[in-house]
Amino acid sequence: MSITEQTLSQQAIDLENKYGAHNYHPLPVVLSRGEGVYVWDVEGKKYYDFLSAYSAVNQGHCHPKIVDAMTKQAQTLSLTSRAFHNDMLGKYEKYASEYFNFDKLLPMNTGAEAVETALKICRRWAYEKKGIAENQAEIIVCNNNFHGRTTTIISFSNDPVARNNFGPYTNGFIKVAYDNLEELEAALEGNANVAGFLVEPIQGEAGVYVPAEDYLRKAKALCEKHNVLFIADEVQTGIARTGRLLATCGNCNCENKDCSGTPDVKPDILILGKAMSGGAYPVSAVLADDPIMNVITPGSHGSTFGGNPIAAAVAMAALDVVNDEKLAENAYVLGNLFRSELNKYIENSTICQLVRGKGLLNAIVINDSEESDTAWNICMRLRDNGLLAKPTHGNIIRFAPPLVMTEAELLDCVLIIVKTLKEFEV
Ligand SMILES: *Cc1c(COP(=O)(O)O)cnc(C)c1O
Repeated sequence: MSITEQTLSQQAIDLENKYGAHNYHPLPVVLSRGEGVYVWDVEGKKYYDFLSAYSAVNQGHCHPKIVDAMTKQAQTLSLTSRAFHNDMLGKYEKYASEYFNFDKLLPMNTGAEAVETALKICRRWAYEKKGIAENQAEIIVCNNNFHGRTTTIISFSNDPVARNNFGPYTNGFIKVAYDNLEELEAALEGNANVAGFLVEPIQGEAGVYVPAEDYLRKAKALCEKHNVLFIADEVQTGIARTGRLLATCGNCNCENKDCSGTPDVKPDILILGKAMSGGAYPVSAVLADDPIMNVITPGSHGSTFGGNPIAAAVAMAALDVVNDEKLAENAYVLGNLFRSELNKYIENSTICQLVRGKGLLNAIVINDSEESDTAWNICMRLRDNGLLAKPTHGNIIRFAPPLVMTEAELLDCVLIIVKTLKEFEV
């Protein structure tokens, strides 16, 4: 190849750079096909996908059952809007409500929309059920949260990159430290205007921070004591990712026996997205029981595409796959194996300090400053070695493969990761 001749990858990257807004900084790899735990680039090189589109592709790339449901529905009826009924939405709402053990579901498309929906439901509930005075409701959130990119959501982020020069911001949020019950209690104590507490069961974007074992249960109890809604953002942790159907696992139908002994927490409002469709289509949802969900009345909220027939068909198929293929159990078993195998290496490593996570939502911490490009360089080398992952915050690399992985494939991935880390030992 001559120097002037460009690779297919470089051509695709150049197009994005010239014609696309620069709102991401992707790893330089251009993918054109996916199947199960694998993706292929435009040059035909095969990789393990160790990000799963931020846990949207839990069921694996192009799962035939999901693709089949999507194709059939796309050829039958795609969109009616909610101006009319369609014959798929009710079936899906029943299926998903029973699946997650809630009275009702409100369908949206993206995770951020579902978070916005939950915040609106919580505020309505505050005024109409709790009796908070107009415009006085406050919602407690955690430092280093990630809940999406809308103006309201970034208003309560403390990530300067996500926030700067997007003001004025939405009021009505109180920040407390994550995994800190004292701060939560102090924020609840003596403030009758608190309507809700919004929390990620594991902080994914922040770097896969797993809270203390009893944090969620005790936080829920504090919320109950103060008549405050416990709102779980399980957009990333939900749908089998952490080795259980939900990371909060409240009353869920998860059959993973290893769950027992871990306290159940049923959120008052549950937010789901990403893997609701297995990555095939944007599908998100908010679930709650009637006394909360019924504050939503005709005209007070909506979305043209929310609950469309394709989304309904795809989500039912995607949730079926989670049960049929026992993905929660697989994530639990493989997650334990992954951490124990990596820990054997980390014991004697200087470049990697630790591995943490639950199920197949894990991260390693690289022994370098947050500003260093070591984690990025390791991800570049992982790419060269056939595995795709991305740094989250500076020196942290998240590892979240599709949950349809086999034990042999996982061990193969551990070999790739260890081999790559070895190239960076000093
Ligand atoms: C990805 C994510 C969101 C936002 O979802 P989008 O579909 O990107 O809008 C919200 N919360 C959490 C925890 C997420 O991981």
